[in-house]
This record gives sequence, structure tokens and C-alpha cells, in this order.
Amino acid sequence: MFLIAGVQPKTKTLDKEAKICPGCGLKTAHNQRIDHYFSLFFIPVLRVKKGETMLTCDRCRQFVNTNPARRCRRCNQVMDPDFKFCPFCGDPAH
Ligand SMILES: [Zn+2]
Ligand SMILES: [Zn+2]
Repeated sequence: MFLIAGVQPKTKTLDKEAKICPGCGLKTAHNQRIDHYFSLFFIPVLRVKKGETMLTCDRCRQFVNTNPARRCRRCNQVMDPDFKFCPFCGDPAH
């Protein structure tokens, strides 16, 4: 017997009701999240990374990030949520 372990992505659909896709205008989009799971023998046992919620269209495969972009309150540049300081003006993040 040998062990098969690894981290694999798993797409999770968060809502049953289809939503209107901003790309094609049809009601074919769903909120989905791609989580990463540590798996043993291809069975996910532990979630290691929680993905961001994205609106995914079944038809045009468009991904729309539903989380509003984080902007610097000083210079209004879009900044990564992990940043502690704004990379553009050095303002501490809030
Ligand atoms: Zn679409
Ligand atoms: Zn800034």
C-alpha cells in the first residue's frame, strides 16, 4: 500500500439560483469558490486554502470577482488585501 496525498482545488457552487451574467446578460452565472483541499487517496480531508468568491458564467466562462477591490484611502490605487502598506504612497492599510 502506498499513500497518495496532495493538495487539489475543489470548485464549490455557493448558490442554487442562477444569476445574470454581466458578460453575456443571460441567467447562467453562479457564485463559485475554488477552495484548496489536502486530500488523501483523492478524497478531500482538510481545507487548506479558502478561495475567493467569484461569479462564474456557465456559458461564457467569465469570472467576475464579487469582492469589491480594496483601494487606498489616500491615493485611491487598488491594492492587494495582504498588503499592510499601500505600495504607491506608503499609507498604512485599514
Ligand atoms: Zn456569460
Ligand atoms: Zn496609497
